[in-house]
Amino acid sequence: MLNNLYKKKLDDLLYHCRKNLPGGLTDEKLITKAFKFSYEAHKNVRRASGEPFISHPYEVAIILAQEIPLDAVSIAAALLHDVVEDTPFTLPDIRAEFGDEIAEIVDGVTKIEGMFENYEMKQVESYKKMLLSMTSDIRVILIKFADRLHNLRTLEFLSSEKQIRLAQETLEIYAPLAHRFGLSSVKTELEDMSFKYLNRTAYDDIAKKLQSKKREREKFIKKFIEPIKERLKDSGFKFEIYGRAKHLYSIYKKIVSRNKTFEELFDLFAIRIILDTQNKNDCFSVYGICSEIYIPVPERFKDYISLPKQNGYQSIHTTLISKEGKMFEVQIRTQEMNEIAEKGIAAHWKYKENNIVHDKKLEDWMKSIRESIENSSNDESSSQIMANFKLNLYQDEIYCFTPKGDLKILPSGATAIDFAFDIHTEIGMKCIGAKVNGKIVSLDTHLKSGDQIEILTSKNQTPKIDWEKFAVTHKAKSDIRKYFNTEKRNLIQKGKEIWERKAKKLKVKLSDEYLSKVVHKLKFKDTGNFFYLISQDESKVNAVIDFINDKSKLTTLDQKLNVPEETTGSDADNFDKFVDEARTSANGIFIGNGNAQNIKGIKYEYAKCCNPIPGDEVIGFISREKGIRIHRKTCKNILNLFMKEPEKIIQINWNEADSGEFTGGVKIIGEDRPGILNEITKTISKNFKTNIKSVDIKTKSSMFEGTLILSIQNLKQLNQIIDKITHQEGVFSATRFEV
Ligand code: MN
Repeated sequence: MLNNLYKKKLDDLLYHCRKNLPGGLTDEKLITKAFKFSYEAHKNVRRASGEPFISHPYEVAIILAQEIPLDAVSIAAALLHDVVEDTPFTLPDIRAEFGDEIAEIVDGVTKIEGMFENYEMKQVESYKKMLLSMTSDIRVILIKFADRLHNLRTLEFLSSEKQIRLAQETLEIYAPLAHRFGLSSVKTELEDMSFKYLNRTAYDDIAKKLQSKKREREKFIKKFIEPIKERLKDSGFKFEIYGRAKHLYSIYKKIVSRNKTFEELFDLFAIRIILDTQNKNDCFSVYGICSEIYIPVPERFKDYISLPKQNGYQSIHTTLISKEGKMFEVQIRTQEMNEIAEKGIAAHWKYKENNIVHDKKLEDWMKSIRESIENSSNDESSSQIMANFKLNLYQDEIYCFTPKGDLKILPSGATAIDFAFDIHTEIGMKCIGAKVNGKIVSLDTHLKSGDQIEILTSKNQTPKIDWEKFAVTHKAKSDIRKYFNTEKRNLIQKGKEIWERKAKKLKVKLSDEYLSKVVHKLKFKDTGNFFYLISQDESKVNAVIDFINDKSKLTTLDQKLNVPEETTGSDADNFDKFVDEARTSANGIFIGNGNAQNIKGIKYEYAKCCNPIPGDEVIGFISREKGIRIHRKTCKNILNLFMKEPEKIIQINWNEADSGEFTGGVKIIGEDRPGILNEITKTISKNFKTNIKSVDIKTKSSMFEGTLILSIQNLKQLNQIIDKITHQEGVFSATRFEV
């Protein structure tokens, strides 16, 4: 439970929520529950600073409540944002405790966390887009801003290498995004903190100079604003006026971009006049009054009220010359405009005022917020408005990486074949498969943002006619099309029609996969080639038809291994006696060599469903008809039987010296090139004293999937064989075959 310190912290958080959340604090219970959950989950972990870990999610929630106040759901999600990443609790745990909405947000934050870690920062703009494309709820991004802000505030405790990486990433990605969302105070702080770690000398220099001139500056400001204050009061305006230094990073940028010294810059600070009014024309009146007192610099007048910035920012900017000839930048805006200037997108939860936005995508996005706010009744909570609003920027693109971390942008729905052609036409032409995040997949696999893709190629590969069906990008499609000139394509299509007609007439029904298997067995290159040859010579069809009609050839390995489930005895009386006997004689008795034999008069045999071999962990199942049947402990059948009839299970052990003639299978995935199977079988017979009992091969998208059934002495030997095959050129994976 919470000690007094944390009780107080929770109270503080609730206080800020009550004060700042647009709809007030509607769900105190939710925040309290999330706080306690996070406290418990992170209990045993400390941050690099030495503080308990909970201080981080807590501070993130506080930042959210103070600077980006939205709703109770986002505060709760902020408290929980590192639970999945850093504690034994999982996303389903969060879902069970807090429901889908919070779970989705936490999931989003977790995914972004460390998303960049493995990749080099090359195409910053694309990373920004990717960040948005992976986010369906805007609160994910807003929590991420708060998270990043707190991480930067506590950056001093990390290694300098990490400091620089995080600072750079922040300056290049998070700060500009915060700007785009209109969160100017968040953006300002992100920039200054990154600046501090990236160029400490310049940072300290500017900070020192600003500080040393502070009193002088304050004096000037006071003197400058005095007459304005008087006149505005006389004219009956309610307002606030103050001067504020610009942030360090923006001063630094001015020094660099204008090639000036600090001393030469005149616009180091701005005077801000914030009017308590609903009427934006008051801003222009106030501008009029100011320019009566001081001389304005005409070319520096900017009207962002009639023409707001992309992120919704509105204000009048002008530069006025004081009596002493000093220049002052003055910004005039209403309270509402100020709110939007500082809290950006977050401010929209408070205001219904329209904002004209010029970026097309941002405009659509603002429009959807506006609509959801306008369409909601007054008693609809802000979290519901939030839930209706999905961020759909850039959802039409996905962002994938090469193994080296190069970014490729593809249309959504793109497949591995598109990725291959995007790298290079030659890579596309020769590709036979892909590894997505380390897993082998076929070329028609759809890619997702964040996937890392390695394209597998073979010099013997040529484009396949069916690639066109799942290629999405223009480049892939046109490259493939170029390869198959129209005439050849038509011939293949013609051949296919001939095949389909004949097959229908003879009432032969074959799946595409099966046809390609048969075609392969008959030594055609592939189905495309088969169709092409039919178009040249119709009699080629007969080979396939004959093959299919010869049923004996169709007995595939799959059928052989598909053993029906165990049947159990029904003659209860005799059976009990039998089990007793089997138990007494089998207990502690080891299984000997070979296949079906007797253990002290009780028959036993090896289950065909899992083919145990010496070295496997095994278990026995007793039935009257078949005696003891020995299964691997991992066998699905035995698990079922174990649940249904636990009384018929007995423990079995191998004899230590056990080896003999057993059956083992190896599943191989590899490149489909001529001769590869031959090479594999050669390797096996050369290196191992074993018999290959059968071979079964399927081809799919230029890869083959094969199963070898071998005579095996024991588990050790099987593992050695698998190891050898794995290292064979053109083999992607070899694993034990499991039914
Ligand atoms: Mn965090």
